[in-house]
Amino acid sequence: MDTRKRRERLHNTGHTAPVGMAMRARPAAPAAVMPSWPQRVSYCAPGMQPNPAGECVSTLCAPRAHPLVNRMQNQRLADYESRVQARFDDIVPTLKQISALQHEADFETRAQQLARERLSFALDEAVLADAWITVLDMRKLYGSSVLNTFHALAQEAAAQQDGQAEAEAMVRFFIECGFHEVDVSACADGRLKGLLHYILRLPQQAVRRHKSYAGTLFDVELNVKQWTETELRRFREGVPTLPDAGTRYLKIAVYHFSSSDPLHEGCAAHGSDDRKAAQAALDRLQAFGTAIENGFCCGASVATLLIGVDTDNDAIRVHVPDAQGDMSLDCCIDNMALHQATAECGESEARRQLDAIVEETARRFGRSAPETGMRRLIERLLANNLSQIDYVCENHQGRYADIGHAERFISIGDGFEEVHLRNLAYFGHMHTVEEGAADMDVGIKIFTRLNVARGLPVPVAIHYRYDDQVPGSKERTVARCRRVKAAIEARYPELVRDGLLVCGMSVQAKSPGSALETIAENDSNPHGH
Ligand SMILES: [Zn+2]
Repeated sequence: MDTRKRRERLHNTGHTAPVGMAMRARPAAPAAVMPSWPQRVSYCAPGMQPNPAGECVSTLCAPRAHPLVNRMQNQRLADYESRVQARFDDIVPTLKQISALQHEADFETRAQQLARERLSFALDEAVLADAWITVLDMRKLYGSSVLNTFHALAQEAAAQQDGQAEAEAMVRFFIECGFHEVDVSACADGRLKGLLHYILRLPQQAVRRHKSYAGTLFDVELNVKQWTETELRRFREGVPTLPDAGTRYLKIAVYHFSSSDPLHEGCAAHGSDDRKAAQAALDRLQAFGTAIENGFCCGASVATLLIGVDTDNDAIRVHVPDAQGDMSLDCCIDNMALHQATAECGESEARRQLDAIVEETARRFGRSAPETGMRRLIERLLANNLSQIDYVCENHQGRYADIGHAERFISIGDGFEEVHLRNLAYFGHMHTVEEGAADMDVGIKIFTRLNVARGLPVPVAIHYRYDDQVPGSKERTVARCRRVKAAIEARYPELVRDGLLVCGMSVQAKSPGSALETIAENDSNPHGH
């Protein structure tokens, strides 16, 4: 399918499909939820140009698909993206329809019927039942509908657990490259929520450790502890490799920037300064490496890799380690440049250029080349990301319309590992509100602009995972959910008073594929009356 047809297909999804089918009608998104780049040709933004269909398309996009693109994977990811977005976009029009019915005689029945048909879940009965007294609490319905939609998606993803074979193949590839564990820390920014599935194309089960921190400032001490656990398991169980296999733990840190609006849409935690963001992530990687070398004898060492993501178009920048594993901010491969240089080539020529780029880059900066395993890993990541660059060209005109924040909700706690999509959630990783207060405040600030300004509440999904092998772990985790919820509500009393903060709680066992368990607000009375 050519680029233009593909784009039309995505944009038309559902407009022609009857309501009630698996792919439901996709109503026009409310303007403020997805701020759109001006689309009229006369207003093409800098770096964009009109195509024959009259759309503004990034000048970086080639007229045809890249020779190394994985078309099937791109198609599958595009279908998933449009399906997820449609489910969120259905919420506002459905609630508007329900709101219009609130004074009719059989209101509750008709409202539930509409909700089940169009949103695939039932609404809070207590909220509907109270409508006759005053007016329907639309804020509460909206907040809980966003959270319900997300819970349904997470539940479906956990139940499917497909791609096991793909994940196992990737783990084997990592081990061949000399890495028995791949650990990725990225910024909490919602624009990186699709990092594993879309930007790097790594199966989630192959990357056991994946956490986000504001500004990529990951916790070095916690990471040392995780490294110790991984190594202990190798010594005790020989999993995933034996202690003398010569493999290492690989830590990848991911920062981000915006090529079209570098001073405003980069990493907020570093004042939208690319170099600062990259340096901060590099400093953490070096601190982690030094901690392992100083803390453990017998030549213990870890491998590290620094990657930058342009959140406008998902193109990555890989900082090439030298033979000793050291990296610099300047010695990096710009994958967008590689994409452009190879887009018009035949497949074998594109492959040849890809295979040469790591050594060429090291040479250009007068540095030694990394060891073979690291080189192979970088080549794989670059190749995977070439598909994503093509994906953004095919489905998003080469630059996302929402180059800034357009998250649907705030995710607090352990995050939802199963659902990966750009701008789906702003993530705050916190064990207590005190230590996560800064992240939470940034999230509330973003949603004040996105939601509160339009009278919509801020949906907050509080989610923690528990260890089902440990007695009492679930109960303690549920208690923590409630504690964090109470602390968040205490921090933003005005929002709570105006019904502009809607928190949902859930827990989930750690083992892959476990179901999501929703927690009622209050043990004794699930409706909170
Ligand atoms: Zn950031």
